[in-house]
Order: sequence, then C-alpha cells, then structure tokens
Amino acid sequence: MGKPTGFLEFERKVGNNELVKKRIEHYNEFHSLLSKEEQKIQGSRCMDCGIPFCQSGLLLKGMVSGCPLNNLIPEFNDLIYRDNLELALQRLLKTNPFPEFTGRVCPAPCESSCTLALNAPAVSIKENERYIIDKAMEEGKVKANPPQYRNNKKVSIIGSGPSGLSAAFYLNRYGYIVDVYEREDAAGGLLMYGIPNMKLDKKVVQNRINLLKEEGITFYTNSDVSKDDKLKVKVLNEYDSIVLATGATKPRDLLVPGRSSNGVYFAVDYLKSSTKNVYNNISNEEFIDAKNKNVLVIGGGDTGTDCVATAIRQGCNNIIQLEITDSLPLKRQVTNPWPEWKRILKVDYGQEEAIEIFGEDPRRYCSSVKEFISDSQGNLKEAKIVKIQCIKDENGKVIFKEVEGSEEIIKVDIVLLAMGFLGTEETIKNTFDVSINSRGNISAEYGDFKTNVQNIFTCGDARRGQSLVVWAIREGLEVAKAINEYLINK
Ligand SMILES: Cc1cc2nc3c(=O)[nH]c(=O)nc-3n(C[C@H](O)[C@H](O)[C@H](O)COP(=O)(O)OP(=O)(O)OC[C@H]3O[C@@H](n4cnc5c(N)ncnc54)[C@H](O)[C@@H]3O)c2cc1C
Ligand code: SF4
Repeated sequence: MGKPTGFLEFERKVGNNELVKKRIEHYNEFHSLLSKEEQKIQGSRCMDCGIPFCQSGLLLKGMVSGCPLNNLIPEFNDLIYRDNLELALQRLLKTNPFPEFTGRVCPAPCESSCTLALNAPAVSIKENERYIIDKAMEEGKVKANPPQYRNNKKVSIIGSGPSGLSAAFYLNRYGYIVDVYEREDAAGGLLMYGIPNMKLDKKVVQNRINLLKEEGITFYTNSDVSKDDKLKVKVLNEYDSIVLATGATKPRDLLVPGRSSNGVYFAVDYLKSSTKNVYNNISNEEFIDAKNKNVLVIGGGDTGTDCVATAIRQGCNNIIQLEITDSLPLKRQVTNPWPEWKRILKVDYGQEEAIEIFGEDPRRYCSSVKEFISDSQGNLKEAKIVKIQCIKDENGKVIFKEVEGSEEIIKVDIVLLAMGFLGTEETIKNTFDVSINSRGNISAEYGDFKTNVQNIFTCGDARRGQSLVVWAIREGLEVAKAINEYLINK
C-alpha cells in the first residue's frame, strides 16, 4: 500500500458522464476517464485491508460477493497510485483476458464487498480497471501474443459471446487449434448484439476479436451449427473436443391475449436491430424503430434499462417500464449486510435519461400487462395493465396475484419484452443430444463442465443461465482448463 492514509484523505471520484441532452443525440459511449493525477489519487484510496473480499468471488446467499475472476485488485490499485501502469497491466491480465469489457459493463460486485464500503464509498475498482486497460490500448501496449507451440489437437467452440471468447483465448494459449462458430454476422455474442453501443462500443469488441484472430483463432460467422447439416457433421467429426458456449438465449414470453399484435418484440431482437442500424447493417423493413412511438418496456432489469435508453435515442414519444416486483430499498438493509452484493435501488443511465427527458422515472413497480389490444389491422394500440400483489402460498412459494379493480388502459405502439431468459434453445439440445436440467440449461457441473456426451463441454450462460459477462469469462477460463486436462489424460 503506497499511501496508508489515502482512504482518509480522499473522496471517491469517477469520470464524468456526458450531459443527458447531449448524449441522447448519439449512440457513442458517454463516460470519460479521470486525468492521470486524479486516477492515482483514486488508486491510493485502497487500504490493502489484508482480507480483500473484493477479489474473493464468493457466493453469499446465492449472490456473488467480490470479483468472480479473482482480479488482483489491491495490487493494481496500488500500482496505479505508484504510476506503474505497465506492471498494473500485467497484474490485471493475469486473471482477466478482457478487462476492456468488464471495465465497461461489469456491475462490480467487487465494490459491494470493498472493506472501505463498510462505512464510506467503495474504492472505484471498476474505473481503475478500465483506466489501466484503456490507457494500454491507447498506447498500443496490448499486442497479439500467439502461442509458441501448437499441439495437433483441435477444439471447436460454438458461440462467440464472452464465454466462448474466453475459452478460445485460453485454449489457444495452451496450444490447441481453435475454431469458433457463430450464427450471427459478427462475433461477440451479447457483447455485440445485446449490450448497446453506448455502454460498450462495438469497436472495442471488434478490436479484441482482431487480436484473437492475430493470435491464431479462426472465426466462422454466419455459421449456425444447428441449422446447417454439413457444418454439424464437420463439427461433430473433426474436433477432439467441442465447447457449447451458446448462451441462454430463449426469452421469457408474456402469453396474454393480444400477444400476436404487430409491435410486440423481444428485447434482444430490438437491441440487435438498433445496433445493426447504428452500423448501417440492416434493411428498413427489419429495423425496429421507436421514433415517435409510445413505448412499453416489460421488465425492470438491465436489459429493460438498455431498451429505455435505446428508445430515447431513437426519439420515442414516451416510455413506461413495468416491473412485477416491488422497488428495492434505497439503502442496504440489515438483512443484506456487507460484504454481500448490495441490493439497493439503482437509477441507471436509461432511467436517468428518461427522468430528464420526460420528467419522471419510467419504472412502475408491482405491475404487469393483462392484455394487448390492437386495431383492425392487428397493430398494437393499447395495453391493459394491472397492479400485482406478491404473496406467499401455504408452502412458502412466492406467487403473483392481480389486484382486483386495478386495471388501466395505456396507449402503446411498441412493447419490448425484457423479462429474462429461460435457458438453452431446443435446437442446441437436439443438435448435440445434450441433457438439459430443470432450469432449462445444459447440464454440467461447475469444475468439470462435461455434458452427458463424450467430448462435449459447456460454459457460460448455456450452463449457468443468464448471468454476467464476468462470470462468462470465468467459465471460459475454467472450461479451457477442464478440456486441457481431459485431452491430456485421453
Ligand atoms: C440486453 C442485455 C444486456 C446485458 N448487459 C449486461 C451488462 O451490462 N453487464 C453484464 O455483466 N452482463 C450483461 N448481460 C448479460 C451478459 O451479456 C451475458 O451473461 C453474457 O453475454 C453471456 O455470455 P455467453 O458467452 O455465455 O453467451 P452469449 O453472449 O449469449 O453468446 C452466445 C452466442 O452463441 C451463439 N449461438 C447460439 N446458438 C448457436 C448455434 N446453433 N450456432 C452458432 N452460434 C450459436 C449466439 O448467436 C451468441 O452469439 C446483458 C444481457 C443482455 C441480454
Ligand atoms: S471484473 Fe468486475 S468484479 Fe472483477 S474487478 Fe472488474 S469490475 Fe470488479
């Protein structure tokens, strides 16, 4: 620890966000970093507390506490303070192959469990991480590092989201010949066609893919292994091992009357269409545009927030975001003590923008839709929304019950369903004959990652269900280790 009194002397400070009215005019990232001197001060706030929960990645009451990648956080904080960014980069890359992703989109469970956060604002760990990698990228210090040696074994990875990329990165480093198959027209999974450009610029994703290609990994896009029979035969026969990193892409639907009205979309289809439009890569007919429309987002999570921010940039008339559960508390509750993941109400970028543009928080809690109402052409025009009561039945199971007499009709042109995901698509199960567990994910234990089929492994959301980028990267690392061991023993 360079400065023993840093945490006593300095307040937490992070970079600025561009003003709402300016940033909604574009889809670029809008967060700027601190100056070098300011960032050094932030590094000095880490007290190197001796028991760094921030890097533990423990599960407490089913929620993660600390960094799932076990990033060497006190070390890189200190190295920032000492202005040794070269060594800081080395330490960061020891545990995290893609800090430019996590430094932008990770919800930072490390900060929830920072010891300073017991009674003061946490060390700005996520921003410190981003500072190290962004400066290194800017200065051209992150270079392709192909393996010195290749064994003659081949691994195919199906899916190029963060878990597939991480598995590819580590298997390639071990010396395997790695081919990645992706059904979309670009690699990156939800990093590319889920998370909007303003949160994670697609040039940042493409830059990493280019580095991986330079390291010797081959990417095949527009290659749907479940639809293309020739490809399926190739993948099943030509590789020593296969990794299913296909995500948890089956969206939860809302099967109420009027669901088939024109104008009801799944959130990821909408977000994908928006990103494609930003890069002029979509036809007018396919593009889902919220311009001058009344928008209803169903789901109060991060995906819903991304829809709110995207619809605002497209110039929607107004926006409402429904959440079936009640609002979270403003402060940590005694039942949710440090170092657990902090369950408090966030005003994320999308809500902040809606508050400034439309004068109110778009979120309505304990609410859902009972019916979609369309005109004679089948175009959505209204939604019947109701209040929901969350109660426990005699077995203690939570059930949602409509509050009688709470119906309200609202004008709606577009509905975006952002209610979570139900696991792996049927096509993956059918193509590879893998077992699916009761949660709809591919069955495989954390640690060995083996499916029921010989040679086939799985990782990321495909195995654990919809989760976080940081967990996907961790699972990619772990599956690579498991495959390496398996193939060596074989
Ligand atoms: C809108 C949205 C916003 C999010 N925001 C955040 C965030 O801010 N921070 C965060 O930490 N997490 C966020 N998440 C969650 C995070 O993106 C995921 O947990 C993570 O991407 C999972 O990585 P993965 O590699 O397992 O799967 P995915 O990223 O889903 O990638 C799976 C890939 O497999 C491909 N594929 C599927 N089937 C086939 C097939 N048959 N043949 C070929 N390819 C196939 C898919 O096209 C896809 O590219 C968000 C999720 C969504 C939906
Ligand atoms: S990856 Fe996430 S949890 Fe880990 S140090 Fe970075 S921001 Fe924190």
